[in-house]
Amino acid sequence: MAEILDGKKLRDKILLNLKGRIDKYDKKPSLAVILVGDNPASKIYVNNKKKTAEQLGIISQVINFPENVSEAELLNKVEELNNDNCINAILVQLPLPKHISKERVINAIKPEKDVDGFTPYNFGRLFSGVEPIVYPCTPKGVLLLLDEYGIKIEGKHVVVVGRSNIVGRPLSQMLLNRNATVTICHSYTKNLAQITKTADIVVSAVGKKIIEGEMLKSGCVIVDVGIFKDESGKTRGDVDFESASQIASYISPVPGGVGPMTIASLMLNTVELYENSFNF
Ligand code: NAP
Repeated sequence: MAEILDGKKLRDKILLNLKGRIDKYDKKPSLAVILVGDNPASKIYVNNKKKTAEQLGIISQVINFPENVSEAELLNKVEELNNDNCINAILVQLPLPKHISKERVINAIKPEKDVDGFTPYNFGRLFSGVEPIVYPCTPKGVLLLLDEYGIKIEGKHVVVVGRSNIVGRPLSQMLLNRNATVTICHSYTKNLAQITKTADIVVSAVGKKIIEGEMLKSGCVIVDVGIFKDESGKTRGDVDFESASQIASYISPVPGGVGPMTIASLMLNTVELYENSFNF
């Protein structure tokens, strides 16, 4: 039976440590979150981020725009936050409505305040093998979880299922930069099971049930990033936990695995940007 990669436990440890770090500062770090529209999932994510930030003593503000906000208005707000010395970290909650270019809005964020690590500057550095100012939160959380359990990455064959800019792509680069041999799979991949069977570590970030125990090599490590609701409304991951946990040596659960690590990484990134701001 696989050992659980406990994201909640590690999140609590990271946040406790961060609280001590923040308590030392008279002037507190600050995070601004831009939220557009009424997407219920986005609202929940943003509220969780705000709540966690406040528990740590990070000053946080949510700037809520209606669904029909213009791109120009959003860009103006980003510019205002870029120039506001009281703000260290800016996050634009995705997805944005279709009439707004996600790329243009993200590109407008100053790299030194880009808490998600999504600007071309930070992405470009990551993809050229140079450290970005901060790493994207979910991939960072995945690596922190693997490191916490002493799981070696160097020389391992890691199969990443999913190639989004939020998870699969940056994670693959981070793994490559840590000397893993990385295979990236996506919706056009043929014979997924044959590929996952050769993996020492499988990270799945798809959003539907796609990984079964029989697709895995004995003793492999499974990190499940996926989140979706099944027919009964229950939160599920991409991996069939029952069968996979019989084969794997470690497995992250959903919920309680990567989700809490994403929040912990966001808080870490906010504090890192704040501390970096002393040098600008
Ligand atoms: P996304 O942008 O929808 O990307 C999904 C990826 O899965 C795409 O690259 C897609 O391939 C691939 N895919 C779809 N069907 C596939 C199949 N049959 N076989 C192999 N690959 C397939 O999603 P995302 O933003 O990366 O998020 C992925 C999942 O992670 C979602 O459930 C999301 O809710 C969850 N998530 C969790 C956290 C967390 O903190 N736990 C954070 C972010 C995301 P193509 O590129 O070919 O379309």
